[in-house]
Amino acid sequence: MEVLKGTATSSGIASGEVYIWTGGETPEIPRYKFRRIEDGEREWARFLAAVESEVKRKERQVEQILKTNKTETDLLKSQIMMLEDIELHDQIHEHIFEKNENAEWAAWDVSRALAQTLFKSQNAYLRERAIDIAGIGNELIYRLLGTERPVLEKLAKDVIIVAHDISPSDAIGMDKKHVRALALDAGSAVCHTAILARSFEIPAVMGLGNITQKVKNGDFLIVNAISGEVFINPDEETVKHYQKTARTRNKSMFSKLETMRDVEAITKDGVRITIKANIELSGEAEKAYQYGAQGIGLYRSEFLFLAPGRPPEEETQYLAYSAVVKVSKGAPVTIRTIDIGGDKIAPTLYEAEEKNPLLGWRAIRFSLANPELFKTQLRAILRASALGPVRIMFPMISGKEELELALKFLEEAKLECKSKKQKFDKNIMAGTMIEVPSAAIIADSLAPMVSFFSIGTNDLLQYSIAVDRGNEKVSYLASPMHPAVLRLIKITLDAAHNAGITAAVCGQITEDCSMTALLTGLGADELSMTAIAIPKIKSVIRSLSAKECRELAENALNCGSASEVKALLKN
Ligand code: PEP
Ligand code: MG
Repeated sequence: MEVLKGTATSSGIASGEVYIWTGGETPEIPRYKFRRIEDGEREWARFLAAVESEVKRKERQVEQILKTNKTETDLLKSQIMMLEDIELHDQIHEHIFEKNENAEWAAWDVSRALAQTLFKSQNAYLRERAIDIAGIGNELIYRLLGTERPVLEKLAKDVIIVAHDISPSDAIGMDKKHVRALALDAGSAVCHTAILARSFEIPAVMGLGNITQKVKNGDFLIVNAISGEVFINPDEETVKHYQKTARTRNKSMFSKLETMRDVEAITKDGVRITIKANIELSGEAEKAYQYGAQGIGLYRSEFLFLAPGRPPEEETQYLAYSAVVKVSKGAPVTIRTIDIGGDKIAPTLYEAEEKNPLLGWRAIRFSLANPELFKTQLRAILRASALGPVRIMFPMISGKEELELALKFLEEAKLECKSKKQKFDKNIMAGTMIEVPSAAIIADSLAPMVSFFSIGTNDLLQYSIAVDRGNEKVSYLASPMHPAVLRLIKITLDAAHNAGITAAVCGQITEDCSMTALLTGLGADELSMTAIAIPKIKSVIRSLSAKECRELAENALNCGSASEVKALLKN
């Protein structure tokens, strides 16, 4: 039996059979030029054959589901029409014969360009077609390559997914019922796939380096996502030991949940900290309250846009947001406007690949550059605010101008709702995330513009220490105890309090027991985290003295390194 060591990114213990996943949204696409005209004829014939077999496959599907699902058959029929579309064929023909390039590349280039043009359209129907055309392009490429599109959405049995990496857009759609655990070569505790795994309560070990080369489909694994170990084909004794450990752990978690669900997070000397939940999908809200959340502190709305299918229209968004508001029964819901970009790529929303996506067209930058998309989301959030307390939050603000512009769009969205006689909360609170060091440093200038701050430490850490949050090779540097990070948090919290607004922390450090005393001492009013962590963190806060925490934080702020802070905490 071999044991691999990585980072436990979503706590738990699971065992099961390996399912190697090598897929992603788009396969590796070969690109080559040919010289002879016969080669062009061959590529064109390959393209037509791929279209024909894909059309036949869809026609068979239509026959099978015709009686049961009209919406799905309508969708399949419209996809068949697109596959046979003359304009698509003409453009691919032109690409093959004028650029002398292979059919896979022609299909990719043409479908992507068409999708991007459609997406920019003012017409909602045409914008919806953008996703369809991109999907058709992908299907044709798989046909031409002669491979199946790998899917995580429908798994036939319980498995442990082993992959090099899984993008957040693939992870959001995975078949949660059948995924027992994740074991990945790449990734770290703050990458978005790790965040999703925690929300779905799927144990995960990441940053394993080369597990994909060590196992094959059907191997048996134990994933210990507490210690970060993965056992390959373990002996019987080890299996029994872990089965027992998993049972004991479940029991103790359940009893902590029972005792902590309805109590407040209040220190021994009476300082109250509000505990809220981070969610990615509206369906998670109910569970958050079962774990004892006092509201939703961060609804990562971009996952609505990353899930397979078309970008959601206003009505779909409104339904998702209002579902969370209804389940919250009067508790506040903070909806963050989309944080698309970085590692969260919605393929048709993008024009070109970026060299440094994490420093690029991400979050509020993307929303401000797409006012219609942004205001559609703002209207949907505003309308949901008519049903209960909602707060709007902007991601990745880096300076005053961005925040001013975002707030201006919010005012415009309010006027649009008014003109349509749509109800919304006129006093809706708008706040900003502080997750870029520049925003933290000028937090005193931003605070008077908003009603609250929420510190996104995952990104604040990434941008202040210059460590890609998804890169396992540099994750050793990403310590939240780095005094630079602590000082940025302190600057932000002080600026908020001086301006009389509240400040939350909503990054992954809120779930880390070793950070709770520091965050309490630094003065966080609110902590927002994955639901499952709530009972544990409440119980830690109830064991602390706020006065001692303040002294600790003061000493930590004067330290010169993360290890000095760590040593301080040990004492
Ligand atoms: C953060 O950056 O800390 C945060 C909460 O946002 P996200 O993890 O979605 O980037
Ligand atoms: Mg962030």
